[in-house]
Amino acid sequence: MGNTIFTKIINREIPADIVFESDSLLAFRDINPQAPTHILIIPKIEIPTVREIKGNEHSKLLGEMYDAANQIAEKEGIAEEGFRLVFNCGSNGGQEVYHIHMHLLGGRKMNWPPG
Ligand code: AMP
Repeated sequence: MGNTIFTKIINREIPADIVFESDSLLAFRDINPQAPTHILIIPKIEIPTVREIKGNEHSKLLGEMYDAANQIAEKEGIAEEGFRLVFNCGSNGGQEVYHIHMHLLGGRKMNWPPG
């Protein structure tokens, strides 16, 4: 089971700097950080893109992802000054890994528009 590098991280087949884990989620530092804090929060189940998210099926999981983001932001010391949460979707959205992931970015002032 599993087609992406993130499944290998979940299964501990390749290493990652894991900062949070629950029954349903894993969070680890991005290997190519775009901000002083750059963490990826992923579900353990495989959902390729945001387009496959169904409110009636995944609302609890999504709530848990936001709870995890808030908890990690507090722990990383970036909560007060603010941070950015991003889901990239598909090729125009800049998605490279087809296993949904929430980017948690912080520790610097973010630009807008994001480019
Ligand atoms: P996206 O472009 O939204 O699909 O984001 C994928 C992210 O995964 C990028 O920011 C990559 O730097 C990151 N990434 C890819 N491989 C790894 C890895 N082995 N460990 C941690 N982060 C990774």
